[in-house]
Amino acid sequence: MNLPPRADCDADINAISIDEALVRIESRLPKLDRHESIDCTKAQGRILAVGVHSPISVPPFRASAMDGYALRVAEAGNELTLIGHSFAGHPGPDSIAVGTCQRITTGARVPDEANAVVQQENVDLTGNTVVVNKAPTVGLNIRLPGSDSQEGTPLINAGTRLGAAQLALLAAHGIHNVLVHEHINIAVFSTGDELVSAPDLLSNGQIYDANRPLLIALLDSPAVRITDLGICGDTESDIEELLKKAAKADLIVSSGGVSVGDADHVRTVLERFGRVDLWKIAMKPGRPLTFGFSRPEQAYFGLPGNPVSAALTALLFVKPAIRTLLGMPAVRWPQLQVPVVSKLSKLPGRVEYQRAVLDQNESGIWQVSTTGLQDSHVLSSLNTANCLIELPIESSGAKVGDIVQVIPFAHFGEGSL
Ligand code: AMP
Ligand code: MG
Repeated sequence: MNLPPRADCDADINAISIDEALVRIESRLPKLDRHESIDCTKAQGRILAVGVHSPISVPPFRASAMDGYALRVAEAGNELTLIGHSFAGHPGPDSIAVGTCQRITTGARVPDEANAVVQQENVDLTGNTVVVNKAPTVGLNIRLPGSDSQEGTPLINAGTRLGAAQLALLAAHGIHNVLVHEHINIAVFSTGDELVSAPDLLSNGQIYDANRPLLIALLDSPAVRITDLGICGDTESDIEELLKKAAKADLIVSSGGVSVGDADHVRTVLERFGRVDLWKIAMKPGRPLTFGFSRPEQAYFGLPGNPVSAALTALLFVKPAIRTLLGMPAVRWPQLQVPVVSKLSKLPGRVEYQRAVLDQNESGIWQVSTTGLQDSHVLSSLNTANCLIELPIESSGAKVGDIVQVIPFAHFGEGSL
């Protein structure tokens, strides 16, 4: 039963928390275990399916961390004769005779008998006689074998997104092939008789479809393949038709048509095909969210039609669901604590996300201000915003100077998962 709204509270007894919704979604999603072996040059942004162990120790040999002279520490107080050199990629003799030292460059192999490298700035060189000005300690400027990673130890965990750091690590270990999750197929469509796309012109009562480009850009990444199924009319048969077209999808994401209005048929059709849950979530914007399965192993998200609500629910629920399908660990957005410079209105009862701008004042202090009108149809608020302010469920707004939680948009970058 819905409680009548109260002027001082925005709570709904039937609403579940964001965390509860995330747990429900995660527990119901299948883990798609389809792997493929690919060349590392094509692996950027893909998700590692099986953890990788170090096939070699890195560095593979004792290497110099400086340009200088390899010597025995015990002899550093004596005049030393410079004999031979070890350059990166061109190791010198492995032994150094008593009373001698070897010229060495960064990354070159240190002769076995040397136990320090003195950097060239701390040495006087006259002819081939070396005098050390600063006493070295044992091991100075020597990178030990395996100091980056030891042969046989875990290098990168399964479920890791392969970005620049991971690809460099794989390359540094001579790995050129990896087992990654196959692409997840995601079908996206918009529902609404009022929707058209350019270059079609608007007729009376029509608006342009903003959600498909929004969702495609938000959800796309090298780990997924998105199929754009276009716009679907507000009839059960139109929706059924699109579900058939999406037969190969692992995940369907639609927007609109999920309330309980006359033109809201998504739920009815889904119930016919599979199972569906329509949840009220204690958040604003984006309270109604449909999650279910249109066929076994084909998850379905029916997002609210208002573009800002669709964006928020995609970020909060669809992105984590994609991570789960890809075997990635769940993450929560890092939040910053920043003073707010505009007054924020809110009723207690649900978590509220306000579009905002994070910047520095004249004194260099970070601050946050809202973009103004926060209605869920106001897409321009997303354009000018660079972050969200998250006001907790019990909050009744904020006054100028209060510290609020801020989620920078950097975490939502395209391809970021
Ligand atoms: P609905 O959830 O279908 O009731 O739609 C809620 C509001 O969002 C209505 O004002 C719709 O016209 C609008 N809307 C629905 N889908 C889209 C879309 N794809 N692009 C822009 N606005 C939309
Ligand atoms: Mg609609």
